[in-house]
Amino acid sequence: MLRVEALETYYGASQALFGMALEVNAGEVVTLIGRNGMGKTTTVHSVMGITQPASGTIEFDGKDMTGQPSYAMAQAGLGLVPEGRQVFPNLTVTENLVATSANRTGRKDPWTLDSIFTFFPSLKERRSSMANLLSGGEQQMLAIGRALMTNPKLLILDEATEGLAPLIRQDIWNVLERLKHAGQSILVIDKNIVDLARIADRHYIVEKGAVVWSGDSKTLMADEALTERYLGV
Ligand code: ATP
Repeated sequence: MLRVEALETYYGASQALFGMALEVNAGEVVTLIGRNGMGKTTTVHSVMGITQPASGTIEFDGKDMTGQPSYAMAQAGLGLVPEGRQVFPNLTVTENLVATSANRTGRKDPWTLDSIFTFFPSLKERRSSMANLLSGGEQQMLAIGRALMTNPKLLILDEATEGLAPLIRQDIWNVLERLKHAGQSILVIDKNIVDLARIADRHYIVEKGAVVWSGDSKTLMADEALTERYLGV
């Protein structure tokens, strides 16, 4: 579904990605993990066309999407839950959700306001509240719901549970598990690798703007030297 090869991305003169590569197949949950500042967000931004890579290729859904702007990536079916959630603070929950509503990907059973409220009962309860009055966990649910309203083929979460209390984090993991069971392809960045290992099919460890290891959850969790060296666990 998504194939990224040899990405090189710069911020001015400073290079952040050095040949970054990854793949997500349909129905898979894949993670980008690694310590702070290693290039995970830059990878996601490069894929989304938010930061244009200097070189490399991005293929999505069988099409070459290299160099496309972010609206084209969204139209093609990439849905981003950005770091820090970035819900529209002065819009209500409902308004946040309908703001991005679209079914450009032609999904058969598209997400609607009703199905989002069924999937996230806590958002239904808060539907008339301003987004800035929601708790961090509710805001993250809203950010996920807003991305789902675009009916993405691939849902991307940057720092899925950052800043959330452990119990609330579990709510987010449950949401991702339910989406996975519904067949949603997901690319997720997070630091909680034990939880990620439970949910995800495959992982990429990112170090200095490139992949230094990739493999499945079982192999990752069995390799203490690896998790200690690259993830500080
Ligand atoms: P984190 O988990 O802290 O977000 P990350 O793995 O996502 O880390 P990036 O945010 O992609 O890492 O950062 C990769 C490198 O690029 C870092 O050295 C960072 O300082 C640099 N960088 C990121 N954003 C910018 C920017 N807007 N301008 C200049 N340098 C940046």
